[in-house]
Amino acid sequence: MLYFKTDEEVGFLRESNLLVSRTLGEIAALIKPGVTTLYLDKIAEEFIRDNGAVPGFKGYGGFPGTLCTSVNDEVVHGIPSGYMLKEGDIISIDCGVILNGWYGDSAYTFAVGHISEDVQRLLDYTRAALEEGVKEAVAGNRVGDISFAVQSKAESGGYSVVRELVGHGLGRKLHEQPEVANWGKKGSGPKMEKGLVICIEPMINAGKKETLQMGDGWTIKTADGMPSAHFEYAVAVDRGKADVLTTFEYIDQVLNKK
Ligand code: MG
Ligand code: MG
Repeated sequence: MLYFKTDEEVGFLRESNLLVSRTLGEIAALIKPGVTTLYLDKIAEEFIRDNGAVPGFKGYGGFPGTLCTSVNDEVVHGIPSGYMLKEGDIISIDCGVILNGWYGDSAYTFAVGHISEDVQRLLDYTRAALEEGVKEAVAGNRVGDISFAVQSKAESGGYSVVRELVGHGLGRKLHEQPEVANWGKKGSGPKMEKGLVICIEPMINAGKKETLQMGDGWTIKTADGMPSAHFEYAVAVDRGKADVLTTFEYIDQVLNKK
């Protein structure tokens, strides 16, 4: 069943996703060679709690971290650890919060220092695929219209779309209906109406689409060891134009100064 939120409820989700956006901005300022993913996790948790919220992922299904920190060939669900970031890495950071009972959930893939042109292109295409998906998140469209747009953009760059993981509805629960796949057919899936809040989150591989689950029970890696990128927005479906509840503006401000 799909939950269509009232304007007031969308307002709460805007607040929780704004906090995630601000948290990612705080983390953006810290990403550099020599920093551990566990340190980033600690700072994120403090920032979230200082702002009257609690981490949304910590304890979810037993996940130990505030952030998912996925480096290079790790697709998603990397566990913060003593791993020290190094020049040329990429790191996908997925962050969730619960504020006033409502979830925020967004992700961004960062470059650590200078990265190769090839890897930068993967990041650019993944973010662009997300933006293409957002354009379809309007009342009257179907979820498959988003899926098709994301897949088309990613594959036009020569990249592949991870199949095992999908976007989702967002609300008082982290994962609500519908599933929002990053591949699919135009005109397929549930019809969207104003008030549906979804996370659109392309996970795009530089090489082949296949993934592997690691022995820690969480980390997903590309099977071929090639890099993978992940960008995620929470979006409220609206008439005419999607209402994006996440902003990367805080991240962009930090990165433009670096
Ligand atoms: Mg997420
Ligand atoms: Mg999500």
